Amino acid sequence: MAAATLAITLAAFLLALRAGHEQLRHASRQRLVIAEAVLRAAVDRYRYLPTVLALDTQVQALLADLDAPGRVAAVDAKFEAIARASDVAEIYLLDAKGLTRSASNWNQPLTFVGMSYAYRPYFLDALAAGTSRYFGIGTTTSRPGLFIGKAVPSPGGGVAGVVVVKVDLEGLQGEWRRAGEQILVSDAVGVVFLASEPAWKYRPFRPLAAADTARIRAARQYGDSDLQPLLEDDRADLGSTVRLPVGDRAARGLVEHVAMPDLGWTLWYVAQTGPALRQALLVALAAGVACLALAFALAAASQRRRRLRGEQAMRRALERRVAERTRALAERTDALSAANDRLRAEIAERERATAALRATQDELIHAGRLAALGQISTAINHEINQPLAALRTFLASTAVFLERGDTATVSRNLERMTQVTQRISEIIHHLKAFARKTGSGHRETVRLAAAAEAVLDLLRARIRAEGVTVDCTIPSDALVRAEPVRLEQVLLNLMVNALDAMREAPERRLELTATRETDSRETASGDANATWRLCVADSGSGIPEEHMPHVFDPFFTTKAAGEGLGLGLSLSSLIVRDLDGSLSAANGARGAVLSLVLPAAEA
Ligand code: ADP
Repeated sequence: MAAATLAITLAAFLLALRAGHEQLRHASRQRLVIAEAVLRAAVDRYRYLPTVLALDTQVQALLADLDAPGRVAAVDAKFEAIARASDVAEIYLLDAKGLTRSASNWNQPLTFVGMSYAYRPYFLDALAAGTSRYFGIGTTTSRPGLFIGKAVPSPGGGVAGVVVVKVDLEGLQGEWRRAGEQILVSDAVGVVFLASEPAWKYRPFRPLAAADTARIRAARQYGDSDLQPLLEDDRADLGSTVRLPVGDRAARGLVEHVAMPDLGWTLWYVAQTGPALRQALLVALAAGVACLALAFALAAASQRRRRLRGEQAMRRALERRVAERTRALAERTDALSAANDRLRAEIAERERATAALRATQDELIHAGRLAALGQISTAINHEINQPLAALRTFLASTAVFLERGDTATVSRNLERMTQVTQRISEIIHHLKAFARKTGSGHRETVRLAAAAEAVLDLLRARIRAEGVTVDCTIPSDALVRAEPVRLEQVLLNLMVNALDAMREAPERRLELTATRETDSRETASGDANATWRLCVADSGSGIPEEHMPHVFDPFFTTKAAGEGLGLGLSLSSLIVRDLDGSLSAANGARGAVLSLVLPAAEA
């Protein structure tokens, strides 16, 4: 990434630099066209002046007779006037030997008059070719200039002299400098003679050939210049950038040139490459920054892609897990619902079984009740017959007392007979209630003493026949929540068993006691858990220890066939449990004690 950025930055720099240079070259060429036009205009402006002067009759007359009085002065004055008017530096006339005969600066301290310029190329060239053009430093004034020479023909043939016009081109340099342009003009051998930068003047780009140096020195073309080469590196290619001294330092520049073959000159334009370089650096910097930004953006994007891929993978894994869990859950739910169905079926089955059991149980209870009825039927028979006999006796005696008119005894007898019939009706009422197949199923508040009394009433005949002493101490406020008929059935069972157990006993005593009990833990919440305990104790044989675990089992009996079915206690305990109570057996001091516990009811 770093290498790519570096490469792109470098490429951008090189491309920008090349484009910058190309632009510079283009601009330089345009500048050169203008500079050349200006230079040519400056040179051409005076091109014809020497020719015109060479044709001047006064000039020719002076050369014809150099000593004729007044002729020099006239030409001097003419040259001075023309020079001032045309703005050329100097105009002067050399004779055939190169001696100055007349000059526009005839009255100046550094006048050319009397000076010999026979060695100067513009003189020699004019002699040889008729015209000359030469740039050099003036040997007298030390001022550079373009010397344009024109041979003045002698009337007898040959050359009488040479008119020279010195044109000052120094002003051009000032213009170039002011425009901030770096322009040079070099001569045919490559020596710069005009330049916007003073330090470049009178120096060749590259070292000169020895002959050229000698010739320039001999002609004193460039005064005392040491002709030190401008380029530090002589192998430097002028087509590319070169280092040129500017002031006391060297500036890099791009060089463009145009040849001026008719003058033998070359015009150079040096463009500073600094700005192009700075611009290229800026472009490279921008490219580098853009590259880095792109690289960062790409890196961020790829990181984001990676993160997204990771997240997707994670999401897929999660989805897989969720799907697995859902599947497992569905399977478990199916299993659960299957188990639920099974359970429901089982419950239904159990309910059916329970219902069947309950029906059976009801049947059994009813059977038990009928059995008890059967057992007591003899006694009842006796119980009803006896009052009936008493009733008959009372009726007979009442009839006798009525005849006697003993109304007091009659009314006492009638009262007794009423009591006897009431007793019969009570017995029948109990029997009817007891023989009903099922209880009402409705629990109500039952007075324990009343229930016990009703059962004792049923058994009264047997109790009397067997000489049993009944000791019933049941408080009148002993109230329980129960189904009256079923409770009486239980009490009947317990009492019949007690009477059966005492049949062989020497002393027969049946004790009924009731005590209130409360659950000590629950007293704070009132009598919600209060119970009544009814103990039926007899003075019989008691229950042998080995029989104790079995007395509540169905069909467990120790009685002779036809006397007991072994259902009494088992049905009683079922009934009591239905009434939210309990039934338990134990042995007392003499016989057995059967305890019946039932929830207490409030008055
Ligand atoms: P059954 O009276 O028809 O035998 P029970 O279920 O009422 O059936 O009684 C089962 C057995 O419990 C009796 O056969 C007897 O051995 C014993 N039993 C019940 N009550 C007494 C009691 N008060 N004293 C001694 N044994 C008793």
